[in-house]
Amino acid sequence: MKTSRLRVPERTCIACRKTGPKLNFVRLVRLSKGNIVVDEEAKKAGRGAYLCRNRECWEKVLTTGRKEQLARALRTNVSQENRTALVQYGMTFPYAEAVAERGLE
Ligand SMILES: [Zn+2]
Repeated sequence: MKTSRLRVPERTCIACRKTGPKLNFVRLVRLSKGNIVVDEEAKKAGRGAYLCRNRECWEKVLTTGRKEQLARALRTNVSQENRTALVQYGMTFPYAEAVAERGLE
């Protein structure tokens, strides 16, 4: 059964621009001091950005030439420390191909 009929607010991944229900994404939030943290509960106040739950998208905005996308989405500079922590977090996700094979998409 599809859940698309539910009134779920749509979110957009900042890496691949894919849209979907909030639960498909992980929210990153910029805290008051400029620190960027993963907001699993999506409840923290602050400017947020969303990324798919797959490793490609995390790598795309954290380790490749598209780093400015994250900075722009959150309107802050991403410190090296933050970036490292986020890369480690992103590494916990499977690549999208693996996700597709398991039929989760
Ligand atoms: Zn994505």
